[in-house]
Amino acid sequence: MGIIDSPQDIQNSLLKWFRANGRYWIPWKLKKDGSIPQSGESISPYEIWIAEVMLQQTQLGVVIPYWEKWMQIFPTLTYLVEADLENILKIWQGLGYYSRANRIHQSSKILIEFVGKYKDQDPYSWPNGLDQWMSLPGIGRSTAGSIISSAFDLPTPILDGNVKRIFSRLLANKIKSIKDEKQLWELSSFLISKTNPRDFNQALMDLGANICTPKKPSCSSCPLQKFCVAYTQYDPDDFPKKEMIKIKPLEEIGIGLVFNKNGELLIDQRLESSSMGGMWEFPGGKKNSNESIEKTIERELKEELGIVVKVGEKLVSFEHAYTHKKLYFTVHICKWISGEPKPLTSQKLLWVSPKKLFDFPFPAANTKIISELYKHLCIGNKNL
Ligand code: SF4
Repeated sequence: MGIIDSPQDIQNSLLKWFRANGRYWIPWKLKKDGSIPQSGESISPYEIWIAEVMLQQTQLGVVIPYWEKWMQIFPTLTYLVEADLENILKIWQGLGYYSRANRIHQSSKILIEFVGKYKDQDPYSWPNGLDQWMSLPGIGRSTAGSIISSAFDLPTPILDGNVKRIFSRLLANKIKSIKDEKQLWELSSFLISKTNPRDFNQALMDLGANICTPKKPSCSSCPLQKFCVAYTQYDPDDFPKKEMIKIKPLEEIGIGLVFNKNGELLIDQRLESSSMGGMWEFPGGKKNSNESIEKTIERELKEELGIVVKVGEKLVSFEHAYTHKKLYFTVHICKWISGEPKPLTSQKLLWVSPKKLFDFPFPAANTKIISELYKHLCIGNKNL
């Protein structure tokens, strides 16, 4: 049976499967009283919007505790719009891709103009158009489609990674070109249930997460098996086309922990325009070839802060992987010799007592350094 001939059969099969196996419990898809919204009933998009942005690069199980903490601190759009970026980044710390938090902050200022202060619990105060949501920073078509279908039960198609994989297999389309991707968007628009779009989209996401998995999909349990060309004619594992695994280049980074005579430590805040903008970090930078790591630290601290330091004992060295590169950090304790620190390449500098460090949002690699520093200071019987 072909997909194009049987949209109604596909919808019925998928929705039947969802009623028995769906993830109804996802907290941002429920009403305030914990009940499941009725068909056609609208719920506030605030909780869904925050969750959808968190989910853009992160799995559901990781997102849930971050989302719960977020909702305790910023329970409404009004709370969020009044928050400092630094407090938002503090909640985001550990979730990665920090530009997402910056974009939520920017979007909150745009949304409050539309929604109005203190009206954010009324779903009808919020925009429900695809173009309106897609005009916000960091919201693409699939995220917008998911927010609108989840909040308003409107038939806006989605095409996130899970859904792309299902459609790629249903059509045996390897997604090699923009034209192929366009075909998948057309399929998503064609198939979406007009009477039950919220459940239909959620069913697709659940099927991709639990049945039509990237490797060894559970085709024997799949409600779409009889419609699936990859299953009937090929090996589903071959769809979509596998990306070439790129070898991540390794860069060496020297970091200097500079103390003043009060035992406070120098930290700097990254420029808003940079990656991880607004986060705090310890000063340092990339090692040049033919340079010792001690020389790197001396040079970087001169360039970044305008100070002269004497590089002392090594605290720790470790490797940290990002999506596109790996960094090898070497961290030394430094003695401040001369020069008044200035934020030459950052937006702000602070001298901070070590015990206050966890009050600031730091990227994951820096939190490793803080843990090692705490161990070092305790072992040396120095006061935190
Ligand atoms: S039959 Fe297998 S490959 Fe096809 S959609 Fe279902 S789980 Fe995916």
